[in-house]
Amino acid sequence: MTLPHDQQLCQRRQELLDRIGEWCDQYGRARDCVRLLAVSKHFPAGDIQTLAGCGQLAFGESYLKEAVDKLDALAGLHLEWHFIGPMQSNKTRRVAERFAWVQSLDRLKIAQRLAEQRPADLPPLNICLQVNISGETSKSGVEPAAAAELAAAVSELPRLRLRGLMAIPAPTIQFGEQRRGFARLRELFEDLTAAGHALDTLSMGMSNDLEAAIAEGSTLVRVGTALFGQRPPPDGVPP
Ligand SMILES: *Cc1c(COP(=O)(O)O)cnc(C)c1O
Repeated sequence: MTLPHDQQLCQRRQELLDRIGEWCDQYGRARDCVRLLAVSKHFPAGDIQTLAGCGQLAFGESYLKEAVDKLDALAGLHLEWHFIGPMQSNKTRRVAERFAWVQSLDRLKIAQRLAEQRPADLPPLNICLQVNISGETSKSGVEPAAAAELAAAVSELPRLRLRGLMAIPAPTIQFGEQRRGFARLRELFEDLTAAGHALDTLSMGMSNDLEAAIAEGSTLVRVGTALFGQRPPPDGVPP
């Protein structure tokens, strides 16, 4: 017997939380030290509503127009929205106005715009710097060697609160290689903490590298397909 779609989503979430808890135990970490961010890009608002109904409150989106449509549709639910996609200058205003977190900040100019555009009646916008830990294989993210300077500059800006670091490593199925990439991000996090930044968020780990990320100290995993199922193509793009 197959469960209805709604029950399946909630069951998958529970199984995922159980697995995350087991890895936390296995790697000697507290069970509640890793938060689950549900990455809902390309999934319908109805799925988000279902997951909200079984207790999932933090969601990540990468494409602004699609995200804003869903935020509008779900405005009554008081969810915590994270912007995790590429940031261009023309998007900063709506991100500053509508999101609680930006995890994909990699340039000071964007940070300055977000600081100017964050409405004064909202809490500070939570920020993770996206770091390029995979070298030439990725175009986005600040270079590790430039992260300290960007962190220092961002932490001076009003209406932003620097919370930590995020990375999307080059995909590999090799566990040791996954761990080495995440270890680099954790070391950078420790360097910034030692330099006086009060950081609490190490955003690393997606559907295919969760265990390695938890082993290396992730505090927030961003999971799409392992939660929602296979991602449909974006609207208007033929499969
Ligand atoms: C799409 C995306 C994810 C989720 O990826 P899955 O492999 O589906 O879990 C996580 N983080 C970012 C930044 C993404 O763009």
